[in-house]
Amino acid sequence: MSPTPSERASKERGRTSRGVFGSGLAKGLAVTLRTMTRRSVTEHYPDAQPDLPPRTRGVIGLFEENCTVCMLCARECPDWCIYIDSHKETVPPAAPGGRERSRNVLDRFAIDFALCMYCGICIEVCPFDALFWSPEFEYAETDIRELTHERDKLREWMWTVPEPPGLDERAEEAKELAAARKAADKAAQTAEAERLAAHREQPPQETAPAQETAPGGPAPGEPAPGGSAREGSASGAAPDEDRGDGGA
Ligand code: SF4
Ligand code: SF4
Repeated sequence: MSPTPSERASKERGRTSRGVFGSGLAKGLAVTLRTMTRRSVTEHYPDAQPDLPPRTRGVIGLFEENCTVCMLCARECPDWCIYIDSHKETVPPAAPGGRERSRNVLDRFAIDFALCMYCGICIEVCPFDALFWSPEFEYAETDIRELTHERDKLREWMWTVPEPPGLDERAEEAKELAAARKAADKAAQTAEAERLAAHREQPPQETAPAQETAPGGPAPGEPAPGGSAREGSASGAAPDEDRGDGGA
C-alpha cells in the first residue's frame, strides 16, 4: 500500500528536522551560551521585593461607605466569587410630613481570592466607586479558606490603594469637588450672615462717664498713675529702675 500524502509529508519533515548529527546539541549549547551572557530578569523574591508598577492588580479593596449594596459587582463577576448579604432598614422622613424610606444595610461583603481571576470587572461596573485595585500581593495562605477576605480585611486593603493620578491642569474640576466647594462657600456665607445679624442685634454697650482728670493727668488711654508694676510707676520709670540698685 502506497503512503498517503500526509504520511509522505511527515516522513519528509522528520528527515529534514533530523539534519546533521549533533546539530541539535550545538543549537542547544548556543542558546545556553547566549542566555548566559545576558542580564538575568528573574527576581529574587522573597529576598528582594519586586519593583511592580503602582497600578498592579494585587488585591481588591472595599470602600464600604460608598457601597449601596446594589449587587451589580456580584452579578457581573464571571467567577461568582463575591458574596454579599444585606438587610433593609426603614429610615425616618428627612422633613416632617415626609415619607419613610428604606435603605439597604450591608451585613457581609467577601471576595474569594482563590476563585478570583483578577479581571477587574467588579471594579469597572461598580457605579459608586466602592471597589479599588491595590498593588498588595502578599496574602498567600496555607489554608485555601483563608483566601476569602471578609469586609474588614477588604477595608484594610483600602489603605494600600495608591492615590489617583492628578487631573490635567486644564481638565474640568471633578463634580464631587465642585459640589464640595459650593457647599463650603454656602456654609461660609451663612456663617458670615449669622455673625453680622448677631452683631446688629447686640445692644449698644453702656459707656462709662468720662472721668475728670486733673490738669497734667494722663491722657485717655494712658495708664493711670499707680497702675500695676507692668504698666510702670507713677514717675514713669521702668520697673527695673524702681528697684534702686539696678536690681543687681
Ligand atoms: S476581579 Fe473579576 S473575578 Fe475577581 S471578583 Fe472582580 S469580577 Fe470577580
Ligand atoms: S457594585 Fe459597588 S455599590 Fe454595588 S454592591 Fe458592588 S461594591 Fe457595592
